[in-house]
Amino acid sequence: MNITIVGSGYVGLVAGACFADTGNDVVCVDSNAQKIERLRKGEIPIFEPGLSDMVIRNAKEGRLTFTTSMKEGVEKGEVIFIAVGTPQDEDGSADLRHVLDVAKSIGQHMTGFKVIVDKSTVPVGTAQRVRAAIASVTSQPFEVVSNPEFLKEGAAIDDFMKPDRVVVGVESERGAKVMRDLYAPFVRTNNPILVMDVPSAEMTKYAANAMLAARVSFMNEISNLCERAGADVDSVRVGIGTDSRIGMSFLFPGIGYGGSCFPKDVQALIRTGHDFGLDLKLSRSIEEVNKAQKKVLGRKISQHFGDAGLKGRHFAVWGLAFKPKTDDVREAPALVLCKELLEAGATLSLFDPEAMKTFEELLGKHSQVTYVSNNYDALKGADALVICTEWNEFRRPNFKKMRELMKAPLIFDGRNILDRGVIAQEGFTYHCIGRKPVLGAAQN
Ligand code: NAD
Repeated sequence: MNITIVGSGYVGLVAGACFADTGNDVVCVDSNAQKIERLRKGEIPIFEPGLSDMVIRNAKEGRLTFTTSMKEGVEKGEVIFIAVGTPQDEDGSADLRHVLDVAKSIGQHMTGFKVIVDKSTVPVGTAQRVRAAIASVTSQPFEVVSNPEFLKEGAAIDDFMKPDRVVVGVESERGAKVMRDLYAPFVRTNNPILVMDVPSAEMTKYAANAMLAARVSFMNEISNLCERAGADVDSVRVGIGTDSRIGMSFLFPGIGYGGSCFPKDVQALIRTGHDFGLDLKLSRSIEEVNKAQKKVLGRKISQHFGDAGLKGRHFAVWGLAFKPKTDDVREAPALVLCKELLEAGATLSLFDPEAMKTFEELLGKHSQVTYVSNNYDALKGADALVICTEWNEFRRPNFKKMRELMKAPLIFDGRNILDRGVIAQEGFTYHCIGRKPVLGAAQN
C-alpha cells in the first residue's frame, strides 16, 4: 500500500518505519525542514530503541522517504495518517490547530479518493471537524478514520509491531477493509482489530490513558497514607496486584507521571466532559493527586535538611526523562524537582543516559547546573543523591564508590528502585516513597 504519514515525531516516525518494514511504500511528511533533512541523512531526532536501525534499513531499501511537501505526500498516499502533535491548550483542551491545518492541506492537494486517518490523540468529535476542514476545500471523495495509537515511548517499536489490539473507528465497510488489510501483518497472533464507530474509537484512547493515570495516582495516594500509617506500599502493591481483578501492572508508586500523553490527555478529557456539561470529578482528582505527588520528594529533602536549608547544598540527580528508555522530558517530575532545588539555592549535577540534551532545552541554561557524562561523576561532593527516573543501570550501583564520592551517604529515591536491606548494610540514609526510610549515617 502507498501510505503517507504527516508528522514525523514519536508516533509518526515509528508508525512510518513499521509500515515500511511490512512492505508498504511510506512517505513521512513533516513541516520541520531540519528534522526532514536529518532523517534523510539517516539521523534519528529522538531516542527510541530499535528505531534507528529500522528507519535506516527501510530508507536504504527505498520503502521509506521523507519530505516537507504536503503536495508530494498527498499525491503518493492512498492512506494518509495525521500524526501531528495535539498539545494542551490554555484551557486544558487539546489544541487541534495542527490537525486541522493538515486536514485542510490534504483537502487542497487531493486528486482522488483518500482514506484519512486520525492517529493523533484527539477528543471525541474531531473526525467530524477533520471531515469538515477537508470538505471545505475539495469535492473529491474521502473517508475519515480514527485509529488512536497506544504505543509506549521506550518500547514503541515492539508495541507497534505487536499491539495488544488495534482500535479503528470507521464510517463504512470500505474504510474498515483498508485498515484491516493494513494492520493484518501486525496481528498475526490473533490480537484483535477492534472496528467500531468513530466517536467510540476517539473516546477509547482518552479512557485508556485516564484509567492508567488513575492507577498511578491511586497508588501514589495510597503510598502517602502508607507512610503516615506505618505500612509498606510494596507489600500492599503485591497484596492487591495478585488479585486477578486488579493485576500487577501500573501499580508502582513514585513521584508522579509525566510525558507528553497522560497529563495532557487527562486534562483534555476533563475539558471534553465540561463541553458536554459533565464534571469529571475522578479525572480532576487524578490530575490533582499527580501534581501534588511531583512535590513529594522535594518536601522530603527540605524536611531532612530542616532549618539548615538547601542554600549552598549540592545534589546529584540520576534520571531526568519522564520514564526510562526515552529522551522525552515533557512534564517530567525531574523538572519540577530540579526547579525547586534551584530556587532553594542548591547546585545540581545531573545525569541521564539519554535525556540530558532535551532536559537542558526545557530547563534552560543555568549557572547552578552541571551535566555530567556518567552517574558516578554526578556524585562528586554531593550532599545527597536524588533518583528521579528508574533506568535499569541505577538499580545495582556500587555503594562503596558512591560513599567515597559523596559528602554524605544520603539518598532520596523517587522510584523505589534500591533495596532497603542492602542500603542499610551499606550505611546510607535512604528516603523513598511509601516505605519506611532507612536511617543510616547521614542524619543531618
Ligand atoms: P511529536 O511532537 O513528537 O511529533 C509531532 C510532529 O508533527 C513534529 O515533528 C512536528 O514538526 C510535526 N508537525 C506539526 N505540525 C505539522 C504540520 N502542519 N505538518 C507537518 N508536520 C507537522 O508528537 P508525538 O509524541 O509523535 O505525538 C503525536 C500525537 O500522537 C499526539 O496527539 C500524541 O498525543 C499522540 N500519541 C503520542 C504518544 C507518545 O508516546 N508520544 C503515544 C500515543 C499517542
